[in-house]
Amino acid sequence: MLSPSARFSALALLAIVAPAAIVAVLGYVSIRQWEASSELLYREQARDMAAMAAEKVEMTLRRTQDAFLDRVQAAVQAGPPSERAIDGLLADAPLIRRLYLVGPRGDLLYPRAWREGDQAIFGPYVSATALHKLVREGRRDVVAGNQVCLALLTARSGAPVVAAFLRDVETLRRDVFETTLGTFESPTIIAVLDHEGRTVYSRAPIGDAQRLSSVAFRDALPDWRLAIYQSPGASPRQAVRRQVMLFTGALGILVAVIVAGIVATWRLIRRETEMARLKSDFVANVSHDLRTPLSVIRMFGETLEMGRVTDEARRQEYYRVITREGERLSRLIDNVLDFSRIEGGRRTYDMAPTPVEPLVRSTLEAFAYPLAQQGFKVEVGVAADLPDVVMAADAVGQALANLVDNVIKYSAGDRAIAIDVRTADERLVIAVSDRGIGIAREEHARIFEKFYRVGRSDTQGRRGSGVGLALVRHVAESHGGDVTVESEPGQGSCFTLRLPLGGA
Ligand code: ADP
Repeated sequence: MLSPSARFSALALLAIVAPAAIVAVLGYVSIRQWEASSELLYREQARDMAAMAAEKVEMTLRRTQDAFLDRVQAAVQAGPPSERAIDGLLADAPLIRRLYLVGPRGDLLYPRAWREGDQAIFGPYVSATALHKLVREGRRDVVAGNQVCLALLTARSGAPVVAAFLRDVETLRRDVFETTLGTFESPTIIAVLDHEGRTVYSRAPIGDAQRLSSVAFRDALPDWRLAIYQSPGASPRQAVRRQVMLFTGALGILVAVIVAGIVATWRLIRRETEMARLKSDFVANVSHDLRTPLSVIRMFGETLEMGRVTDEARRQEYYRVITREGERLSRLIDNVLDFSRIEGGRRTYDMAPTPVEPLVRSTLEAFAYPLAQQGFKVEVGVAADLPDVVMAADAVGQALANLVDNVIKYSAGDRAIAIDVRTADERLVIAVSDRGIGIAREEHARIFEKFYRVGRSDTQGRRGSGVGLALVRHVAESHGGDVTVESEPGQGSCFTLRLPLGGA
């Protein structure tokens, strides 16, 4: 049969620790899966975002260019383009650099002449054959050779006119990329790479950030790409790892709290079990203590009543035994009643200045018979001119009686009692020493606990309820004093009661 605490531990293990372990394992497995799938999801999201961002950039670029080309188309439609009018339009469009308007036969309509080196750049795209092809395809704007943009316009006569121009990369960066991509809400880094893979724009320094995804722009920026980089510390793996650490930490704390709870409850149960055992011992001890003097009184009383004792000296002896056992009974009952008052918080103390020596001597007097009968050597030392001390005389007398009673109970071969009364540091000090069985060091604190009795082998056969010293301590502390013990097994013990001279 398992003890209650062992049963509790087994239950706690089953009910709490096992589910906690299962949660830990499941948590670990699902976190691993989560880590893998979130990586995948993260990359997919990056790809979607790159496509969306590229589209937005192209739209903005087209809108700016179209607005400009619409204005040029209007100017061309109005008649042969005036240089001043086109210059004015160019001044308002910082994105457009080096505009040339070319007629269907490759004739330059604006400006009057090619600027230095430009014919080499634009020439191949605005030759009659190239224009012919462009007209055949009917496309309004085309980017050729990564730099040159071509747009097909119509002159007043209905003849095709080609607008050829370059874009200003700085304006492209600032007015298109920055305004469009700068507003994207994402922890990643968005960058634009030109046809040679050079970074034209990036929202934050790329450093050695890992590229998550990249998409090509369409017609408006052929061969250019929009790339998404992972910001340092923002990888899904790192985020998951942080979560794992958090989860593990939380689980660890949870398990620690559970274990602490189990240990605390287990201790409580052990204490309760111990207390229950002590209480039942107490009841048995008190009953036994009551029965012994009662049967002695009865036996001697009956013998006397029957008039069988004729010898006067024996009769006197019997009376003394009855009186002594009666006193012992009273002491025992007083102890138990006081203890119950203390437990119920009802014990009160009537303090009054009290002469100490008479109190000590009368207490000892009550034990004169057993002390003499068991051959105790008694020594009493009371300091001269002790002042009266403010105390509850009956309570202190009872505490002292408990100490003397213990000396009688726990002395074996060397029977001696010494009571020393003096003052020190504004306190009355009463020391009761013996040369009895003594108390092991580790028991010194516990013997003052209620119901506690030292290991059965030592106290076996000695009557006692286990509340005597608890009472002594209560009396001492209620007076603002204390009680201490010095003792070695086999050497004897010395209990010292210290009370303030002026009362509590
Ligand atoms: P009890 O009724 O058992 O005497 P107490 O509270 O008076 O209860 O004492 C608690 C325990 O302390 C005792 O059971 C005994 O083991 C130990 N004890 C008390 N006084 C002495 C002493 N003078 N010498 C040896 N052991 C003592």
